[in-house]
Amino acid sequence: MAQQWIYLNGDFVAKEDAKISVYDHGFLYGDGIFEGIRIYDGNIFRLKEHLDRLYDSAKSIQLDIPLTYEEMQEAVVETVRRNELRNGYIRLVVSRGPGDLGLDPRRCPKAFVIIIVEQLAIYPEEAYRNGLVSISVSPRRNIPDALNPKIKSLNYLNNILVKLQANLAGVGEAIMLNAQGYVAEGSSDNIFIVKKGVVYTPPCWVGALEGITRGAIIELCGKLGYPLREEPFTLHDVYTADEVFFTGTAAEVIAVREVDGRTIGAGKAGPITTHLLEEFRKIVTVDGVQVYK
Ligand code: PMP
Repeated sequence: MAQQWIYLNGDFVAKEDAKISVYDHGFLYGDGIFEGIRIYDGNIFRLKEHLDRLYDSAKSIQLDIPLTYEEMQEAVVETVRRNELRNGYIRLVVSRGPGDLGLDPRRCPKAFVIIIVEQLAIYPEEAYRNGLVSISVSPRRNIPDALNPKIKSLNYLNNILVKLQANLAGVGEAIMLNAQGYVAEGSSDNIFIVKKGVVYTPPCWVGALEGITRGAIIELCGKLGYPLREEPFTLHDVYTADEVFFTGTAAEVIAVREVDGRTIGAGKAGPITTHLLEEFRKIVTVDGVQVYK
């Protein structure tokens, strides 16, 4: 990419000059929300669904986004256009904005909107065929009545604790349980298992983000005739599954070949995972908002 332009509260600023206040409450307290969005061949995949989730997160934490839905959509599209990006990743951040050192949001008069677009480093193609090695980790998912995992907040410390353990074990993604011991999600991906032709994913109330990719896969299962059940399951079900995969904006649909030393199925991407990835890759260039029409 040549000169990279960042959207900073209504202005386009060169990457080197894109700075925020040290009094910003997103920085001081993780008080804010975000979205990670993909652009595939000029198509912003499911932008509407991402913006719906953003505005729902904002409502939940009583954050007034200073742009209407339409203005936000236009800001995202314009940032992509300015950067002449056809394929990549969009990070949309809305922080509570600058305030004082106290945590009271009333001291933050205006929320701060940032849009960054970048090229994306994703897993190598062979990882999609061979699958990832993964582990379960000790930090439990935030309980929904503390900080609801449905809110895509800037407070990712729970997820970062997972990432630290994943790093120690040398794996790219790990499995988080909820406080009752049911499988919740990965550090930044939703999780699915397949057993005897049935696809399972935890309901979000177990403690998972309502992933946009997760939603797309649930829809694809319906279209392709794979029975899909949203129900809680345990690590035992993961270990004995025929297939396990993670879904996420960056990861797409990535198979898991081993969990906690147990080989999953044939130890490589299974047929249903592979089929779902193929079909997912067909919709990503058409389902969404075309930037360069
Ligand atoms: N769970 C968490 C905690 C996440 O941060 C993400 C986003 N990377 C996901 C799941 C997957 O959601 P999506 O498909 O919308 O990217």
